[in-house]
Formats: sequence, C-alpha cells, structure tokens
Amino acid sequence: MHSMNNELSTMSQRIYFDNAATTSLDPEVLDAMMPYLTEKFGNPSSIYSYGRETRMAIENARKTVAKILNAQPSEIFFTSGGTESINTAINAAIRDLGCKHIISSPIEHHATLHTVENLYKTGEASLSYVKILPNGHIDLEDLEQLLSTGKEKCLVTLMHANNEIGNILNIHTVGNLCKKHNAVFHSDTVQTVGHFPFDLRNTPVDFITGAAHKFHGPKGVGILYINENIKIKPFVHGGGQERNMRAGTENLYGIVGFAKALEIATENHERDSQKIKQLKLYMADQLKEKIPSVIFNGDPDCNCLYTVLSVSFPKSEKSEMLLFNLDIHNICASGGSACTSGANAGSHVIKSINNVPDQVTVRFSFSKYNTEKEVDYVVNTLKELI
Ligand code: PLP
Repeated sequence: MHSMNNELSTMSQRIYFDNAATTSLDPEVLDAMMPYLTEKFGNPSSIYSYGRETRMAIENARKTVAKILNAQPSEIFFTSGGTESINTAINAAIRDLGCKHIISSPIEHHATLHTVENLYKTGEASLSYVKILPNGHIDLEDLEQLLSTGKEKCLVTLMHANNEIGNILNIHTVGNLCKKHNAVFHSDTVQTVGHFPFDLRNTPVDFITGAAHKFHGPKGVGILYINENIKIKPFVHGGGQERNMRAGTENLYGIVGFAKALEIATENHERDSQKIKQLKLYMADQLKEKIPSVIFNGDPDCNCLYTVLSVSFPKSEKSEMLLFNLDIHNICASGGSACTSGANAGSHVIKSINNVPDQVTVRFSFSKYNTEKEVDYVVNTLKELI
C-alpha cells in the first residue's frame, strides 16, 4: 500500500494504455507532414509547380504504402480512415460485384456491423453471422457450412484482428475458403496494418482497410486496398481524384503522414513488436500474481495482437466504477472499443464470447512508448480498486 502511494506520487503524468483506440503522433511523422501544412500547400490537381510538388508527394506516398504491403500503387486508395474504407468495401461488394448474401461475425467493429445491418434492413442483402468459439475465434467449420449452403454470391467480411480481445484470424485460410466458394472477401485490417508485415500479392483477399492513427500516424486518413481483379464504381463523385474513385481535394498532409508512419512502423517492427509483447506478457503475469481472480478474454497465449490485453475482474460495488476510478488515477484504458469507453455500457464482443454478467472488463492496449514502470503502477492501482 505504501509503495503504491510512493509510486503514485511519482506518476503525476497520465498513463495511456488505450493504443487500440488511437495512438499518439510520432514526432518524426509530424516532421514529414509539416512542409505540407506550411509552404507546400498547393492543390495536387493544379498543373503549375505548387500542384506538381504536392501531387508528387501523394503519388510517392502511394508507392511507399504499396511497396510495404506488396501491392500495386493502383490498388491503394486513400480515404478518411478505417470506417470509410470498410463502408466502401462492403457497399461496393453488394452494389457493384453482385453479392447478395453477407457473411460476417457478431464481434466485428461497428463500422462493419452497422454497414451490414443497414444493407440487410434495406433489403439489398441477406445476412448471416458465423459462430464464435468460446476463445473468440471464428468457427471455420460453420463458415464453410454457410459458404457451401448459400446459393447466392457472397461477401465475407471478417476482421483480421479483433480490437477488443486481440484475436487474429487466419486470413489465408479464410481467403482460400472464399476463393473455393467464389465469394468476395473483405478483411478489416485496421488493427494489423502498421503492426504486422503484409504480403498482399500473395494473400487471397479482395479488400483490406487501414487507418494511420492506429500506428502513430495522423487521424482522419486511411487506405482501402482493392485487388486489381476487382472493379468497383466510384464511391464519391466530384472532381475525379483518386483515379476517379473518391473525389475531393486530397488530405495531403494526412496521406504523407500515413506513408511515413507505415515506413517507421515497418522499419522498427522487430524491435517494437518484441518490446510491446514483453510488456503485455509482463502485465498479464503481474495481474495473475497480484489479482488472482483476474480472467483474460480471447486467446491471449496464441494467435493474437501483441498490443491488446483484455481482462475481466469480478464485479463488486467497488469494481463497477473501475474505468472511472482508473481515470481518477490518471490511467487511460477502455471498456471495449473507443465508443464504449467511459460509459462501459457492455461490449458486444465480450457478450458474444462470454456472457458472464458478474464481471467488469477492461481493455489495456500498449504502444512503443509504454514502460514496465507504468505497468507496475497500473497493476498496483488495480489491486486497490478491485
Ligand atoms: N475497425 C477496427 C478493428 C478498429 O479498431 C477501428 C478503430 O476505431 C475501426 C475499424 C475504425 O477506424 P477509424 O477510426 O479510422 O474510422
């Protein structure tokens, strides 16, 4: 108790353990963006020198991103982030690619769930949810069953990594199943782009999505990868930007920031992923030791994000106010995805895998900027708050 209070007094700064919601901007990314917020302000569609230099910056960013993901530059479209990319992929599969049935899962991000529900409500597509196993993984037998019984062309939209529990889908296995059944495959890779290497040339996927703010880039910029064999119609009409697909003057500095953040993440992947993984394991060990009643959600020892640790504590009068009390102690974590933080209304993901009402769930998610000292402080504080 005393040692905690000592630690407490030295932890006057906030501890940010919510990196799956968003990350802080890497100062090097800001440096790369700055010229495009200041002197290089030209409209990339202008034909004179101001325009040419910013057009060049966008096309270089596209080439950088494509090279890192092993895709063609023509397969990369810049968007306003994960949500827009996901909406576009799903809607295009129904409206342009002839898909009449959607297979998704109940633990997707709301960007996916609300989009597929909307298409279902408007009668544009029928909808099935694949079964989830108790460890949070997709039941692949059920997926195969759904794919083989449907008569209509299918869109399968399943996330690569779950933002609340961290489980990772085998994108190759699912992609090959989709190929076998002639289904279009979109994977929400918002939690994995910038955190894992991608080799899209050799990955059986039609659409993937990414958002810079999940890997120390700026907010409000993302990518949609559309495999070159897929032809969809324009998704924003207007001035013809993004090769006529998404009109509107480009988010120039955001796009430059996206590419720089991806470059840094890729260069330092080995070092940073090891460091973050060790931190996560350390926190899990400390929690088990100091709070034996803790439960880890998902499949934390197997195929999962090294950035996310989802834990549940027994519900009590004290622990019910946990997120609020953590905030009072300068600790930022969330109850699930960003939209449920604070309110802790109950996560649709946790309910789908483990509907135990007498628990309080907190997602801790880490970045390269976190330290063991922060973990010690958080675990000691949690011990007091449970
Ligand atoms: N998909 C997942 C898995 C996410 O974690 C997020 C993050 O909020 C999104 C989609 C939405 O991305 P964005 O915030 O860039 O719209």
